[in-house]
Amino acid sequence: FKESLQVFRGKKTQTFDEEEVELVCNIGRAEEAENVTLQDGEGIGLFRSEFIYFDRKDAPEEQEQYRIYAKVLESMEGKPVIIRTLDAGGDKDIPYLNLPQEMNPFLGQRAIRVCLDRKDLFKTQLRAILRASVHGNAKIMFPMISTVTELSSAKEVLQEAREELKAEGAAFNPEVEVGIMMEVPSAAIIADQLAKHVDFFSIGTNDLVQYTMATDRMNPAVKGLYKPHQPAVVRLINQVIQAGHQAGIWVGMCGEAASNPMMIPLLVGMGLDEYSVSPSCVLETRWLISKIDRKKAKKLLPQVLELEGAEEIEESVRQFLKENG
Ligand code: PEP
Ligand code: MG
Repeated sequence: FKESLQVFRGKKTQTFDEEEVELVCNIGRAEEAENVTLQDGEGIGLFRSEFIYFDRKDAPEEQEQYRIYAKVLESMEGKPVIIRTLDAGGDKDIPYLNLPQEMNPFLGQRAIRVCLDRKDLFKTQLRAILRASVHGNAKIMFPMISTVTELSSAKEVLQEAREELKAEGAAFNPEVEVGIMMEVPSAAIIADQLAKHVDFFSIGTNDLVQYTMATDRMNPAVKGLYKPHQPAVVRLINQVIQAGHQAGIWVGMCGEAASNPMMIPLLVGMGLDEYSVSPSCVLETRWLISKIDRKKAKKLLPQVLELEGAEEIEESVRQFLKENG
C-alpha cells in the first residue's frame, strides 16, 4: 500500500475534478523540516514554535530564534512556512515562565494570552520571525485567538516590532502574511469579524473539538464526545471556511482532522484551501483528496449539516465514500 502511494510523489494535490489545494505539514522541531521535503510536503502549515522554548533554563534570545527560523525557511526554498507564535500553557508547561498554577490550565493563561501578558517575550519572537522572513516565504500565525481585541493587541505588538526593525535598519519582508488559529469556539462564531483583520485562518481542530464539546482532548473517559464529526464541530468548521471565503481570505486546517479519511470528503465539500498534516501522512492525504469529486462533495454538505449526531454524519461519509471512492 505504502509503495503504491509513491505515484503521488511530486504531483500536485487536487480533487478528482482537478480543483487544486495545498498540502503542507505540521512540525515541532526545526530538524523535522527535512522530513517535510522527504515526504513531499508543499511547505509547512504549522511550525509549533513552543518546542524552541522547552527544556532550557531561560527564554531563547532573538538571535538564536532568528537562526532557527531562517534555517527552516531556507530549507523550504520559497515554499510557505507558517510559524505559530508561542503556545505556552495548557499542558505545555515552561518552568521559567512561572505560569500560575491553575485549576483549568486549558481555560487559563495559555498561548496568545501569555504573550500579551509578556510583551517583551512576544516581541522578541516577532522580531526574530520578521528578520528571518527575508530567507523565504514566512507567515505568522497567532494561537488561541478568542476575540477581535486580542487580535488587535497582537497585531499592535507586531507593528511595534516592524517599526523597531525599520528604525534599526534591519531587513525584513513588510508583506509577511498574518493569520490566526481558529481553535476557540468564540473565534469561529465571529469568524466574519476576525476575517477582516487577517490574511488567513488555520482551523485547529484538536482544540476546537475540545473547547466546543467541553471534552478534554486527552481524557479517554470522554472520547465518545471528542469527535470532529460532532454536528456542532462540523457546522463551526463550515462556518469558518465560508466566512473566510466571503471575506476573500484563504482557510487551512492544521488539526488532526485534516488528514482524517472520514473528514476529508466534508472538507473538500466545504472548499478548504490548505491541509496541514504530519509529514508521514502527505502521500496518503494527497491520494484521499484525489478520489473526491469536489462538486459531489459539495452537494453532500447541506444534508450533512442537518444531521443530528456524529454517528449519522460518519455514516453519511462512509456511504459517500462507498459510492464515490
Ligand atoms: C490544534 O489545536 O488543532 C492545533 C493544531 O494546535 P495544537 O495541537 O498544537 O494545540
Ligand atoms: Mg491548539
